[in-house]
Amino acid sequence: MKALLLALVMMAFPALADVQDVRVWQSPDKTRLVFDLSAPHEHKIFTLTGPDRVVIDINNARVNSDLAGLDTQSTSIRSIRSARRNQNDVRIVIDVTEPVSASSFPLAPNDVYKNNRLVVDLERLQKTQVIAPVKKADSYDDNKRDVIIAIDAGHGGEDPGAIGHGRTKEKYVVLAIAKELQRLLDAETGFTPFMVRTGDYYIGLRERTDKARKANADFFVSIHADAFKVPSASGSSVFVLSERGATSEAARWLADKENESDLVGGVSLEDKEDHLAMTLLDLSMTHKRNSSVQLGNNILEQVGKVSKLHKDHVEEAAFVVLKAPDIPALLVETGFISNPQESRKLADPAYQKKMAKAIFTGVTEYFRSHPPRGTLLAAERDNAPVVNTYVIQRGDTLSDIALKNGVAINDLRRLNDLKNDQLRVGQSLKIPNS
Ligand SMILES: [Zn+2]
Repeated sequence: MKALLLALVMMAFPALADVQDVRVWQSPDKTRLVFDLSAPHEHKIFTLTGPDRVVIDINNARVNSDLAGLDTQSTSIRSIRSARRNQNDVRIVIDVTEPVSASSFPLAPNDVYKNNRLVVDLERLQKTQVIAPVKKADSYDDNKRDVIIAIDAGHGGEDPGAIGHGRTKEKYVVLAIAKELQRLLDAETGFTPFMVRTGDYYIGLRERTDKARKANADFFVSIHADAFKVPSASGSSVFVLSERGATSEAARWLADKENESDLVGGVSLEDKEDHLAMTLLDLSMTHKRNSSVQLGNNILEQVGKVSKLHKDHVEEAAFVVLKAPDIPALLVETGFISNPQESRKLADPAYQKKMAKAIFTGVTEYFRSHPPRGTLLAAERDNAPVVNTYVIQRGDTLSDIALKNGVAINDLRRLNDLKNDQLRVGQSLKIPNS
């Protein structure tokens, strides 16, 4: 009876929501504020002009945090203040430095965030345009454009991704690997990297592929590091979009988890038109899949040299981020952050570099042998001298072969990518026509 009475009282007077904390994330287009609240709440949000400001009215709440102390440098926020309103309500006023559109949504507690949250997005009315990467100086010719590789570091901002052993956060690890991959591609003739996310902020999954498309990307690679229920799970994996569902239970579980990221953005995946369903019948989709699988095999082979592989083949899963119908796309899980040894490695810059180099080698090798039309790589391949192959016999030396074929030994080394002059019986060597 007492309990029932208490329940009735609680319904009549829902718990007062304490605003306990606030975080801010800045992306090129918007400022995201996330308030932690001690209880579910109701709120209203609107903008006012002269001066530009955003007003949030929260019912039955109070502010228990130093909002004015929040570091809002290089965001659209000038200052934040709050005042009591009516009896039990609170008004938060955000003074902004430029006109913005404001939107908001509540989030329920989850594994990472134990609080109720209120997410407020202040979108700049003057948006930054996605600009296709500028060609490098040596490929001004319109028919010799660079191959553009979109690099997508998973998660970001309020979404930390998997949190591993030693509190290592996936969003930092994958951004570090992505930046290293960017650096390598930038230095490589014939390639231009395009970074989907450049800092610590969240981008919706569909928006990531849209950005890649606007940048005219030839390939999209999403970089992640996974966590699993058991710490013993280990190894890297490469995923291609499945045609129908995931190939394994683990892959399905993983896809659900990665796709969940968008819940932080408050975007329901259901309400978006399903590009995949629309284009499954399209032949270009088949072509895209085949290219993706081949690319995946290349990357898997390279990644296998620097880390254990979780599976020795390209896996399939329904990752939303891979659903661009026209761009070959892969998702690379660079290891399990939930595994103590792998977590240590993933946090180590030396290992991050090795992983980036492996992805780089897989991607560049693929595009050198399958250059898209109109690229510098395609022009180079078309102009390359005719090559013969020679199979190494017992007793052959590189200098003998060079001599017999009248070619420079250095050309042999370069053409065959030889690290040293040791030859294996049965190995094929490319011999340029002299
Ligand atoms: Zn992830």
